[in-house]
Amino acid sequence: MMMLTKKMIEIRGLLQQVDQSDTLTLPSIVVVGSQSSGKSSVLEAIVGHEFLPKGSNMVTRRPIELTLVNTPDATVEYGEFPALGLGRVTDFQQIQRTLTDLNLAVPEKDCVSDDPIQLRIYSPKVPDLSLIDLPGYIQVSGYDQPTELKQKIADLCEKYIKPPNIILAISAADVDLANSTALRASRRVDPRGERTIGVITKMDLVDPQRGQDLLTDRKYPLRLGYVGVVCKLPQSTGFFNRGNGNITSTIVKTENAYFGAHPAEFGHGSDVTVGTTNLRQKLMHVLETTLASSLGSTSEAIRQELAETSYEFKVQYNDRSMSAESYLAESLDAFKHSFKGFSEQFGRVEIRDLLKHEIDQQVLNQLAHRYWNKPISDLVPVSLEPGQLADLPKADSDDPVWQHKLESAQSALTKLGIGRLATTVIATALQNRVDFLVEHSTFASHPFARQAITDASTTILRDLSFDTSDELEICIKPYKFRIELEDNEWNKGRDNVTRVLKEELKTVDEAFGGVEQEVGGKKKLKDVIGFIDRVRKGEIVLEGDGAGGAGGFSAALLRRGREATFLRDRSEILKLRIKAVQSRQCKDRKNKYQCPEVFLDAVADKLTTTADLFLDAELLEKFKYLFPRELDAKLGRNLSATDMERFAREDPKVRRHLDVVKRKDMLEFVLKEIESLRQLEGRERKQSGRN
Ligand code: GDP
Repeated sequence: MMMLTKKMIEIRGLLQQVDQSDTLTLPSIVVVGSQSSGKSSVLEAIVGHEFLPKGSNMVTRRPIELTLVNTPDATVEYGEFPALGLGRVTDFQQIQRTLTDLNLAVPEKDCVSDDPIQLRIYSPKVPDLSLIDLPGYIQVSGYDQPTELKQKIADLCEKYIKPPNIILAISAADVDLANSTALRASRRVDPRGERTIGVITKMDLVDPQRGQDLLTDRKYPLRLGYVGVVCKLPQSTGFFNRGNGNITSTIVKTENAYFGAHPAEFGHGSDVTVGTTNLRQKLMHVLETTLASSLGSTSEAIRQELAETSYEFKVQYNDRSMSAESYLAESLDAFKHSFKGFSEQFGRVEIRDLLKHEIDQQVLNQLAHRYWNKPISDLVPVSLEPGQLADLPKADSDDPVWQHKLESAQSALTKLGIGRLATTVIATALQNRVDFLVEHSTFASHPFARQAITDASTTILRDLSFDTSDELEICIKPYKFRIELEDNEWNKGRDNVTRVLKEELKTVDEAFGGVEQEVGGKKKLKDVIGFIDRVRKGEIVLEGDGAGGAGGFSAALLRRGREATFLRDRSEILKLRIKAVQSRQCKDRKNKYQCPEVFLDAVADKLTTTADLFLDAELLEKFKYLFPRELDAKLGRNLSATDMERFAREDPKVRRHLDVVKRKDMLEFVLKEIESLRQLEGRERKQSGRN
């Protein structure tokens, strides 16, 4: 029969994990006693260790649900706080400190909290028991406390001392039992004394005859009886060293010495029960009997809860089972599938587009830097009508200045660090794409997985980029010295750069429009531009640097005006150059000094062709191969069960689903266990009836 409590303690642990509403509670022993009645001493004597918070102002503010688990074959004793995940705590002073901290965590103004602290103690020396230590406040409730607090304490007390719980009412022998807070509280809810065990502490402080009288009290008779104890520990000074050691034998010795010295009052035949050893026996027996008789109602409550859970499972989740592992596997498959889709439509062509766009920007920079930002007179397109800009010089193929211009632009382009630039552009594009895929996957609501995926892609891309960028730089090395262009390459360059210039023109004009809007209209911008032009031509001389505004225009407006003037000039030049590029002269590749745009574009195209081929093979293809494998490694089956669980639970919807599945499984399991216990118990009862 002794297995019942142990089994039920296991079941209680399981129910605590799945029961949100506290409806499925099994009977416990609730310990009540006024301050200094010796309540802590009794609990510690039962456990065999000092572990409860001490100190004059250290009142318990939260109930402690203390579960004792007998581990017959174990060599170590330890405690566990299931809710804290601290693991095994073998140092009982550490348990004491933790309990103190948990108590102090309740804000002073709240005084008490009904959120219980769960503590389990495993030891070969403890009996299987479950005890609940209630806040000490209950016992001092009364005189000077506000009504609200009284109510709070009463509610908390009410919650715990109702049937079928057993009440362990602790009173000190040196206080009149009629004044015992514990017994008064018990009498209120258990007037016939059917589920209260009385404990009289400090038996050593009263005359033995009086002690015996207390234990046979007739005024408030208890069916389960009274037990007298002496739980006083020697002072920590001298021979007895208070520490981590087991205190059971010390207490038993003290008790044996005291009660043994008074055989007439406490010995056999005196009809009283004394000593903590007997108290433990009684507690075990009473709890076991209570648990046995509650099996039917517990089973019924679980059955009902199971029915509700099954209904929720059916209605909300369509009976679809789910585990953290299956959820992760499905999410990972879906993600890898979407990556595969991306892989199929992202290849060399897409790389080329990205690279060409980037290198085109570099070409534009070179053109602006070496040609366009110069005074407009340097750049008169040869196709313009003579007379239109007749006094301006023209590019001359034999002039070393024009030769140098083009050569340095070409050299700047090829020595730009294309290896690094191109690799970065593609690696960034891939990373962005991965981020996009994550954003549109189930992983979006899982920070843990997001991080793992980002880590996977950045690590791979970083490693690949390192070698790729150096090797690519070597591949383009020949272009740094000599570039030969074929006719078709020149023509292609001419077409392409016309498009690029037109796009640039559009961007510049749009930017100009933007400034126009910002300053508040065409007219206003025109006025300020007119002013700036006149300053530039020297028609107006500014006093100072114009930092505080000038000509009736604010400094900010002048800044905007200068920006607009730049854009207007750039637009002019672009228009001229588009015409130039399209002119007959630029059809001939011999005229490269007159058509630097075409020449540089053709160079850029050569660079791009080398780079795209290389990056496709060395970066993209390798990434496509490595990334899914790295995902498997990071999020696949070798993830620990805890990590999988943590991952799945990050999404509240999934968490709810998992909870329902878990609750249902657990309740089914518990119900089966309880049913078999009932059968066992039924058989035992029959047998003992026969004997
Ligand atoms: P609590 O406030 O109800 O938890 O009471 P404690 O267990 O802290 O005990 C209050 C005081 O009574 C302490 O100083 C204990 O050492 C002392 N005490 C507890 N049990 C006994 C006992 O059986 N005999 C004697 N003489 N003192 C005891």
